[in-house]
Amino acid sequence: MQIQNIIDGHSIDPIDNRWIDVFEPANGKFYATLANSNEADVNKAVEAAESAFEEWSNFTIAKRSEILMNIAHAIESQLDSLAAAESKDNGKPLSLAAKVDIPRAADNFRFFAHAITQFASESHESIGLKTINYTLRHPIGIVGCISPWNLPLYLFTWKIAPALAAGNCVIAKPSEITPMTAFLLGKICLESGLPKGVLNILNGLGSSVGQAIVSHPKIKAISFTGGTQTGAQIAATAAPKFKKLSLELGGKNPNLIFEDCDYDKMLNTTLRSSFSNQGQICLCGSRIFVERSIYNKFKTDFVNAVKSLNVGHPSDPQTDIGALVSDSHLQKVKRYIDMAPSEGGKILCGGDIKIISGFEEGYYLNPCVIEIDNNACRLNQEEIFGPVVTLMPFDSEKEALDLANSVSYGLSASVWTNNLNRSMRLSEKLESGIVWVNTWMQRDLRTPFGGTKDSGVGREGGFEALRFFTEPKNICINYSD
Ligand code: NDP
Repeated sequence: MQIQNIIDGHSIDPIDNRWIDVFEPANGKFYATLANSNEADVNKAVEAAESAFEEWSNFTIAKRSEILMNIAHAIESQLDSLAAAESKDNGKPLSLAAKVDIPRAADNFRFFAHAITQFASESHESIGLKTINYTLRHPIGIVGCISPWNLPLYLFTWKIAPALAAGNCVIAKPSEITPMTAFLLGKICLESGLPKGVLNILNGLGSSVGQAIVSHPKIKAISFTGGTQTGAQIAATAAPKFKKLSLELGGKNPNLIFEDCDYDKMLNTTLRSSFSNQGQICLCGSRIFVERSIYNKFKTDFVNAVKSLNVGHPSDPQTDIGALVSDSHLQKVKRYIDMAPSEGGKILCGGDIKIISGFEEGYYLNPCVIEIDNNACRLNQEEIFGPVVTLMPFDSEKEALDLANSVSYGLSASVWTNNLNRSMRLSEKLESGIVWVNTWMQRDLRTPFGGTKDSGVGREGGFEALRFFTEPKNICINYSD
């Protein structure tokens, strides 16, 4: 299988004819080659996007919306094959891909197909001056969308759908580690009536083709989701060129669990928020702080629940935890687990490599719970992004808040309490872009999504995304004689 680029409506080889190997996490075997593109490929894609822009940006809103809706339907009609491709490429359980990743990719297109029909610009009447201002919101032109490997199609479409809805032409790059479903989506888009050149998908390494997208003078905005270090590098390249930037970066999210919570609901949800997608979701709650009065009970119940999770082949319906995305990521996560003793941590369960019979070369790890006594340890300050969580008790609401905020990241936080005033006090003070109270990862696509501190700049979702992908222009008319 060859995963090519999609430029100007055609699947084509990279200009230099260089290729990268793609591996299947579940068995560690090579299964596809990927276009290893460079600056010349980006130039070609930009030419295609430039030619397509005039027509696409002048399509009526109704027509654009209809095409996005066609894409949503096509994704749904191919749910099984897309879910299988996602699971094979990423190592995530097939059941998760079929229940979450692919339906959400369709939802992203459907949501922005509707949202663009409701997106309005403002007017301001300057009373007494016989002046009226109105604001136009035009598409930016050519925009770059760069996405990571953890939720491949889900996050790829989260960027592309609003960019297209707003009338832009897109140069998009999926992660080199999980490129398959983006390639399949490119074909779906063409079959669904998206004109050629409007969406161009370039594959390859972040350091070459990714960097070339970010540097290209005709690409005027970059929407990026990925690691904080990569985000900093992208900002350093794009900022002096005055490009619009949206950066959705890493997280180290706290869970604050109080004695007065709904215990069973909290326990089940905390299991999910810790280990869904092998803990490889930027929103996973990786630091669990529990009020001391229920700490020992929680520790026993949680560890028992974690031990009962099935680590297995992604296609097995019994599997709760599939394979990590790559061997190098598995080694990175393992290095953090191995540093537990020197960082004052005690491993309560898991953390060892799991060998699955018949798939011995796959990247499997038993989910790991580490008890710590110091929030300053590296395990609690650095993003591990795997099936690893830490536990620590707290004695007061103030201490819980200090622990939660004493970290450089600020993406999301969960609070478990039935005390309304406490939940509101904490929600106000937590330094994060998103706070969940008595829930986790419940998403309404109209809401602003993103992080503070080292977790990013800007917000996506709903009209925030449509504002990002449009350029406002104010027109002021004086109508006095
Ligand atoms: P990376 O930062 O390594 O990569 C993200 C994307 O950027 C990939 O497509 C990558 O390509 C590309 N890239 C790498 N270097 C450059 C560059 N210099 N210029 C342009 N593009 C580049 O992240 P991961 O793929 O490892 O994803 C995991 C990270 O993503 C975690 O930190 C996680 O927290 C974060 N994340 C944040 C979310 C949020 O909404 N805040 C949601 C999901 C994940 P390639 O793969 O080819 O190197």
